[in-house]
Amino acid sequence: MPIEELVPAACAKIQDFPKEGILFYDVTTLFADPVAFRRCVDELTDRFAGRFDIVAGVEARGFLMAAAMAYKAGTGVMTVRKAGKLPRDTFTKEYQLEYGSAAIEIHKEDIPAGTGVLIVDDLLATGGTLAAAVHLMHQAKLEVAGVGVFLELEGLGGREAIGSGLRVESLAVA
Ligand code: 5GP
Repeated sequence: MPIEELVPAACAKIQDFPKEGILFYDVTTLFADPVAFRRCVDELTDRFAGRFDIVAGVEARGFLMAAAMAYKAGTGVMTVRKAGKLPRDTFTKEYQLEYGSAAIEIHKEDIPAGTGVLIVDDLLATGGTLAAAVHLMHQAKLEVAGVGVFLELEGLGGREAIGSGLRVESLAVA
């Protein structure tokens, strides 16, 4: 099955979660499928092969992807955490979600300036989360090598929110 069909097929779809009118794509079923998970990790890593020094995963599903992708590529991994979890000085960015608002953080000065970062998350919707992650990397003077997701929701302006200057790769669009 082509990957653009495999990704949405491997996700459980929940109508009206977390609120009425939202069709929620639950990637935990994709993560639990050994064939689908490996194919997605391999494909997304290959699309950025040789272009990054570290993989940043957005809490929490992005952590699972980032660890697997970094292991495959032989790089380190960094965590983009929800606010209030990191113990040392942080850069913080608030942003709007598809439903609600939130803030994410990274530690200051953990990664040398100029390091090439591939940012990953499970899903791109309005782009608020990943645009905030990009902002954090720029605050830390890191080079954003690109943004990768397993699934992109169409018609929510996610790519535009991230900005045209960056490479954004999604394995499938729904
Ligand atoms: P955005 O900031 O692009 O609007 O939303 C993306 C963020 O919200 C991601 O961190 C993603 O995990 C979560 N999210 C939004 N909608 C969905 C969905 O349908 N399925 C999943 N798995 N996550 C979603």
